[in-house]
Amino acid sequence: MEEIAARVAAIRQRIAAAAERAGRDPTGVTLVAVSKGFGPEAVLAAAAAGVADVGENRVQEALAKQAALAAVPLRWHLIGTLQTNKVRVALGAFHLIHSLDRFSLASEISRRAAREGRLAPVLIQVNVAGETTKHGISPEEVVDFTRRVAELPGLAIRGLMTIAPATSDPEVVRPVFRRLREMAARLADLSLPGVQMEHLSMGMSQDFEVAVEEGATLVRVGSAIFGRRQP
Ligand SMILES: *Cc1c(COP(=O)(O)O)cnc(C)c1O
Repeated sequence: MEEIAARVAAIRQRIAAAAERAGRDPTGVTLVAVSKGFGPEAVLAAAAAGVADVGENRVQEALAKQAALAAVPLRWHLIGTLQTNKVRVALGAFHLIHSLDRFSLASEISRRAAREGRLAPVLIQVNVAGETTKHGISPEEVVDFTRRVAELPGLAIRGLMTIAPATSDPEVVRPVFRRLREMAARLADLSLPGVQMEHLSMGMSQDFEVAVEEGATLVRVGSAIFGRRQP
């Protein structure tokens, strides 16, 4: 418990220092603690340390923790791939879906949200580095894709998300984060209905400081808070 609190405090300091280096207000960066692979007691320790935002990859795992932590006010973020048949459940369970990565998923979210008379906030996941192992819209397609999903009812597009290549080398990750920021700026210029480029979800344990320097508003940090996950 104490270890988690100390790590959260250290990460907050590093976020603040990175924001200052970039001339940004540190309060513009939200720490999303990624608790996949860890139980509700770990989430509770993070919450006690002031974490208000929690990220999960899987809907079922998130639901189990939410049930155990029903009394704790937390915002839950879905950061992993969403299967179309879990959309209905996901809409009720998450504050923000970071992983909109295909049109069929956008249509299903739209259909379900519109039926319930609500707006589902989502981020479009972009595969900036073009890695075949990663999900996401390619940079070349992101403008067309955003135009198409902007026409769907029930969806509120709130920004972009990316996962950088698995290296802490800033020379590799910095251009990836920079490109995401540039794409968001280009999309914002189009003033599409229902599209607000409010968020850049980028940066993980290895690279969140570079991401903050490049404009991240949401950093998704797991192992640096909770420790190494069991494979
Ligand atoms: C697991 C995961 C994270 C957190 O990764 P760490 O390296 O443990 O910080 C962030 N984003 C996504 C999409 C993830 O799947």
